Amino acid sequence: MKCQTVLAGTECTFWGKQGCVFPEGSCQTIAENCEGCDRIVTGTIGQICSAYPAPAKKWIGGICNFASHVKVDLSIAELKINPLKASKKASGAKKKK
Ligand code: SF4
Repeated sequence: MKCQTVLAGTECTFWGKQGCVFPEGSCQTIAENCEGCDRIVTGTIGQICSAYPAPAKKWIGGICNFASHVKVDLSIAELKINPLKASKKASGAKKKK
């Protein structure tokens, strides 16, 4: 159903017949880490996230997985992959007879 408060007219999965069913009854404003993200929109309570109603929670365990402004740079060395195991896995090992 469509939101009738923070982003009136926007389709939202949290809006039901009894209003917003998200905890605290509303979206929450963006977190400091969100600054620069393309998903920020302006609602009646200020800047909010168009992808998730509680932006601060998206940063609790690390980088927000919806963030458009943060890129994760992973090199092979950082992944700590055992080259021998990776080779076996790629070749479809575990051929038992
Ligand atoms: S997608 Fe993540 S980083 Fe971007 S505004 Fe939403 S919560 Fe913040």
